[in-house]
Amino acid sequence: SRVRVMELEESPEISYAQIGGLADEIKEVREAVEYPLTRPEIFQRIGVEPPKGILLFGAPGTGKTLIAKAVAHEAKATFIRMSGSELVHKFIGEGAGLVRELFQLARERAPAIVFIDEIDAVGSMRTNDGTSGSAEVQRTLMQLLAEMDGFDNRGDVRIMAATNRADMLDPALLRPGRFDRLIEIPVPDKDARLQILKIHSRRMQLGNVDMDTIVSMTENATGAELEAICREAGMMAVRREAEKVEMVDFTDAARKVKNEAVADNRMYT
Ligand code: ATP
Repeated sequence: SRVRVMELEESPEISYAQIGGLADEIKEVREAVEYPLTRPEIFQRIGVEPPKGILLFGAPGTGKTLIAKAVAHEAKATFIRMSGSELVHKFIGEGAGLVRELFQLARERAPAIVFIDEIDAVGSMRTNDGTSGSAEVQRTLMQLLAEMDGFDNRGDVRIMAATNRADMLDPALLRPGRFDRLIEIPVPDKDARLQILKIHSRRMQLGNVDMDTIVSMTENATGAELEAICREAGMMAVRREAEKVEMVDFTDAARKVKNEAVADNRMYT
């Protein structure tokens, strides 16, 4: 069971070059997560403690996991991901124990980056919704807070988390010495959308494709949706048995992905 809830990767194969936009956010994450691992002496010399926990917040599919993996890659650290929602919904009764094991594993595999996705599932202000899971969720949260409190920020394990709903988080998680650095990951603007489209079409044979037109068709699309558009455009070219991916493939793909987003009630409209 533990294998499913914890995903472990040695220095994941994601580099900063594979992330479109987010230059300022990447810079902040590097200072808070990467440099404490790779150049701890700078922090020591200046006499400043690195932040303890870094919380990335923003819409789904905007690149939060991608950034965490890229930092682990750059710092040559083990990446250990745990899903907060799986923790409380799939492994009922095991939450607190799994959190303890997560931190134990990180210490054994250091340098390591612990990444807790959907942390709101463990530490939301409204966990007390009357369901039978809530006492268990509370115990899991308590264990997480205890692990963080007993943690040395100067060590070679860094803690990151992600949420779509920072406003819903239990304030206990955001106190100094816990998740004390919040970084917002925005939906990509025009320039970022262009970069993301280029990243995800870089291996395709492109015909006469005007990416700026696709950029203006995709306002509010997330990185994940832009990736889906590129993949879908490629599939359409395959279906046409064409040599290259053409403009019509991209415009059809953009329309298709937009319709799916509308059906799912997502932001991209
Ligand atoms: P969630 O909240 O749903 O976990 P997330 O913010 O962690 O979302 P990711 O898992 O990082 O999102 O993104 C999903 C996929 O979308 C990535 O694997 C990547 O292919 C693509 N993607 C998202 N954002 C970007 C970006 N800024 N640049 C390039 N690709 C991106």
